[in-house]
Formats: sequence, C-alpha cells, structure tokens
Amino acid sequence: MPADPPTLSVVVPLLNEEAVLPTTYSALVTELDKTGESYELLFVDDGSTDGSRAVLRALSETDPRVRVVALSRNFGHEMATTAGLHYSRGKAAVVIDADLQDPPELIHQFLDRWRAGVQVVYGVRSRRDGEGPLKKLTAFLFYRLVRLVSDVPIPADAGDFRLMDRRVLDVFRALKDDPRFFRGLVPWIGFRQEGIPFVRKPRHAGTSKYRPAKLIRLAADTVTSFSTVTALLATLLAVGMATVSGVAILVVLALWAAGVLAVTGVGWLAVGGLVLWNVQFLTLCMLGEYLIRTHRMVQRRPLYVVDEIIRRGVGHAPGTGRRLEDRLSVGPFREI
Ligand code: UDP
Ligand code: MG
Repeated sequence: MPADPPTLSVVVPLLNEEAVLPTTYSALVTELDKTGESYELLFVDDGSTDGSRAVLRALSETDPRVRVVALSRNFGHEMATTAGLHYSRGKAAVVIDADLQDPPELIHQFLDRWRAGVQVVYGVRSRRDGEGPLKKLTAFLFYRLVRLVSDVPIPADAGDFRLMDRRVLDVFRALKDDPRFFRGLVPWIGFRQEGIPFVRKPRHAGTSKYRPAKLIRLAADTVTSFSTVTALLATLLAVGMATVSGVAILVVLALWAAGVLAVTGVGWLAVGGLVLWNVQFLTLCMLGEYLIRTHRMVQRRPLYVVDEIIRRGVGHAPGTGRRLEDRLSVGPFREI
C-alpha cells in the first residue's frame, strides 16, 4: 500500500465477473499509466460466488495499487459503490463498471475537466450498443420518469461512470440515505458538475446482473427518496374528489328540497357514503403528507452543503451555535 494517498481512486463494484476481470484490470492500468498520476484500483467484491475473489487476490499480490473491499454478501450495486467510495483515498475518485461497458479512455477527459475545476464529471450514454430493445426502453422510461418527478435535477442517461472530487466524496460519506440512489445523491450534492457524452459498449464478457424487475425497484426507491410528488398528487386528487362530491351532494339536496327529486333510503345511504369516503380519503392524504416529512427527517440528509465562506479578514472564530450548524450542514470546506 503506498504511503501517500494517490491522486486518483478507481472504484470498481463487481458481482461474479471472473470472466472479464483480468481484461478490465489491464485496460484500466494501460489507460491510467498514460495519465501520469498516481492511482489506486479499488475493487469491491459484492458477494461474488464465482472465482472473482481469487482473481482479485492474485492481482493484489502482484500489484500494490490494487485494493479489494470484499463485502460479506451481495448488498447490491449501489451499496458496493458506496463502500468503494468510502474506502477511496484519492483526491478524486472514478466509479466504473467491471464489464468494460464504460470505456476507460474517457477517464482522460474526466481528469482534464477535473483539473479545470469541475468537481463532478459524469459520462452520458449517447448510444447503447449491444443492449436489447426491452433494456433500452426500460432505461429510457426510467430516466425520463425520474427526471420528471425528482426534486433535484438528475441528468438523463448518466450512469454511475463518473469522477468525483474529494469535497464531493466527503459530503457523500456524510449522507446516510438508505436506499441509496447514487445517480440522484451526487447531483443533490451540487458544486460544478458536467456531462461528457460517450457510446456505451456491449459487455466484454459475462452476463448482466440487472433484470427489468430490479430497475422497477430502483425507480420506486428513487421516486420515494427524491420526490414528494406522489403524496402531492394523492392530496390533489382527494381535494378534487371532495369538491366534486360536495357540489353533487348540494345539488341533490337542493333538488330534494324543491321537490323535484325523490330521494329514497338507499339514496340517502349513497349520499352519506360519499361524505364518509371523502373524509377518509382526505384524512389518509393528510397522514401521507406527515409521513413524507417524517421520511425526510429519517433520511437525515443535511439541509444544505456550503461551498465556501467568503469574508474580509482572516481567522475563524467558531462562535456559539456551531454545533447546530454542524448538524444541519456539511462543510464549509474552504474558508477565505
Ligand atoms: N454489480 C454489483 N452488484 C450487484 C449487481 C451488479 O456490484 O448486485 C456490478 C456488476 O458486476 C457490474 C456493475 O455492477 O460491474 C453493473 O452491473 P451490470 O453490468 O450487470 O448492469 P448493466 O450494465 O447490465 O446495467
Ligand atoms: Mg454492464
């Protein structure tokens, strides 16, 4: 293990990728050597049951830049990525899939933008080769739906393949969200973020671990952790229904009073049922509004992230209330 933290950490989450790992390793080393920067390769074995662990062990024995974080079981892609970023020591970290669908050559462009002062550089999949129409369609719908309802601007077609500056990594470390949606949390963090288009290649070897059902679960997790639109829609619907029903009941009552309409016993039951049903629906939505706010508190995301504090004079005297600040925010990272 090198004594000094490397400039770049490359985080590779993987599950049962023994067929592709040696090729991925050499492709990464070839590109990273060209950058002239020091780096570490951080493989996260997400509970593989094939020979992946043995391949990684062998690589770590011949190459000190290789570090392996092996999880106790399969925690899923998002948690494996999180673990890798927690263990990364670089001034910046790149997350890349193990199957060479994300081209390692793009890392050069990531680094160029990072050196120019951009804190997050993400790959945007302009085209997907070698993926079936069902995968393409579900992915297309997934990104559009998430963008439509999300409270933070999540870029379309941006996967996990991205570079993050240390400051972003430190905020990421402080987030306790579970479930975690990496592609939503990183845009939430903010700072300067830029996309670079690339063509997503077919898998080099092995099979995809994502089934459409997994994508649907990911979409449900994302909508619930990044949007409150579901509760709002239900509330609007309840208010709308209550208004329509209220008017209808008034009309029936007026017609009955005028002697135009003869309301029978069943009719009165229907009117009473409508009132009760609307009261229930509205109460449920009120509970939903509280629940969603409680959910936000439980997520324990900080309220904001401070980029820098600019003020005249030097020296920083931590005043009272500092503890409260620490609890509510992440940063400041730089004081001028
Ligand atoms: N992966 C993981 N844990 C999982 C599922 C997938 O670490 O539970 C890894 C997988 O080995 C790969 C990356 O996440 O490096 C992306 O998965 P995959 O290629 O199967 O997804 P796709 O590219 O088909 O969307
Ligand atoms: Mg893949």
